[in-house]
Formats: sequence, C-alpha cells, structure tokens
Amino acid sequence: MAKEFRQVACPTCGKPVAWRPENAFRPFCSERCKLIDLGAWAEERYKVPSEHDEMEQDQAGTGRD
Ligand SMILES: [Zn+2]
Repeated sequence: MAKEFRQVACPTCGKPVAWRPENAFRPFCSERCKLIDLGAWAEERYKVPSEHDEMEQDQAGTGRD
C-alpha cells in the first residue's frame, strides 16, 4: 500500500523530493537547498527600512547651500 511516497517540490530548486522519514532535509532535496532557503529567509528578516539610505543620499547631494 505504501509503495509510493508523497512527492513535494523542493522550495529552493523545484526538484521533486520524496517525502520520506529518511529525508532529513524535507521538504528540501538536500542540505544545500535547505541552507540556501534559510539564508534567503534571514536576509529578508534583517532587511532594514531604507531611511538611512535616504540620509546618505541627502548628504551626498549637499552643496546647494
Ligand atoms: Zn533543491
């Protein structure tokens, strides 16, 4: 009955992954893809509002005084 495993698409590369207990990286196809996804996540989290960027641009554009 359980001859077929449920398949999911790796969130990182889209490769079909068998959802098996042995696959420690599911739903990812590999540790590499898992790390890539976690890294992307962290980048999003640590993104800060661009207020500081605007300040820098203002300073760079001075000289009209
Ligand atoms: Zn993958």
